[in-house]
Amino acid sequence: MRAVDIILKKRYGHELTAEEIRFVVSGCVSGEIPDYQLSALLMAICFQGMSKAEIAELTMAMEHSGDVVDLSEIPGIKVDKHSTGGVGDTTTLILAPLVAACGVPVAKMSGRGLGHTGGTLDKLESVPGVRVDMDTETFIKTVKKTGIAVIGQSQNLVPADKILYALRDVTGTVDSIPLIASSIMSKKLAAGSDAIVLDVKTGSGAFMKKPEDAMALARTMVEIGDSVGRRTVALITDMSQPLGHAVGNALELREAILALRGQIDESDNLMQVALALGERMLMLGGATKSAGEAREKLLAAKRSGAGLEKLRELLIALGGDGRCCDHPDELITAKLAIPFAAEQEGYICSMDTLAIGEASLLLGAGRSKKTDVIDPAVGLIVHARLGDRVEKGEAVATVYANDEAKAASAMALLREAVAVEKDPPKDLPPLIYGSAE
Ligand code: URA
Ligand code: CA
Repeated sequence: MRAVDIILKKRYGHELTAEEIRFVVSGCVSGEIPDYQLSALLMAICFQGMSKAEIAELTMAMEHSGDVVDLSEIPGIKVDKHSTGGVGDTTTLILAPLVAACGVPVAKMSGRGLGHTGGTLDKLESVPGVRVDMDTETFIKTVKKTGIAVIGQSQNLVPADKILYALRDVTGTVDSIPLIASSIMSKKLAAGSDAIVLDVKTGSGAFMKKPEDAMALARTMVEIGDSVGRRTVALITDMSQPLGHAVGNALELREAILALRGQIDESDNLMQVALALGERMLMLGGATKSAGEAREKLLAAKRSGAGLEKLRELLIALGGDGRCCDHPDELITAKLAIPFAAEQEGYICSMDTLAIGEASLLLGAGRSKKTDVIDPAVGLIVHARLGDRVEKGEAVATVYANDEAKAASAMALLREAVAVEKDPPKDLPPLIYGSAE
């Protein structure tokens, strides 16, 4: 078999065989197929797409390109959750403890921030002492003991994705549904859970800006799950404004703690999405039959404080101090807290959520390159929501910074990102667009 023939076949729009796809993935990991041929094939896939069968084969070949995690020692149905990436999206730190408190084991391998989006591992590491590089044996033991562990991906999980993703990033081939779906699902499958709940974001802060593209991506990922016997459900949710109010690592952890302490209203967007995803996790995990019953259970775990205790157990298992669960405000440690005031009265009509994520990145909450060190303290709290009325001079957000120049750059980005207009917006996007299952 020759890589050039496979490239030509895809270029002319023909369907690749399972054997050809496996040849490409193994040649990618072994280094036998050079980057320029992989890049050409990725570009051909962007233009010609892939059939359902090709996508399933590609996902499985990638899944098995490295280690796969075996969670069978943990009793019960293990349900994983994944978000395609958002801003102020702290749902994992709220729903994972709640779901675990309801008796469904959470054995989750999370990611770090990518581009303008935040990552659960970086948020957990804002607690001093926390280490997310637990070995697989300890990971399984922890879940068996406490029902919850959230750690980083083991080193050799889906090496094919590491290579292909890095190439896609620099060859203009990221936003292809077959490539995104196989990238995400191969990692979820290799991480070993029995069922998967996906949160596919759409809007100004998401990789998929249009809801119809998000729905197509969601359907593709659900089909992959079905074709390999892992039940998969996806919700399509809004990212046309930050999901929670907090953007930045310690600030987001604090918001999750406030939510678990019952200090955030149930009608809040972040809470609504966390509950909707949590319901799906409980149903897939076999803990309840109906969404209504699942919601009752999750809310009961919040009210009793059982969810908060699970988060504390998680932080302690990772080597951290659980006391932030009692004193969440102590997580606010940035030297500067600067209000970002509305320059005129009116209504918040749109938010460039990508730019808000980038403002947080500029402050030091994320990485522009892999080696950057994160400042856990910095970020922002966005007080206003789309459609809210604001007065001139009212604080729309507060910027938390450790550096005046960075704060000024973040403020400049925010001024462009938040549009205040005289009339209220005509229609606001729904929080949850729908589901694929
Ligand atoms: N997240 C991933 O893991 N892969 C993609 O291709 C896009 C987002
Ligand atoms: Ca299904």
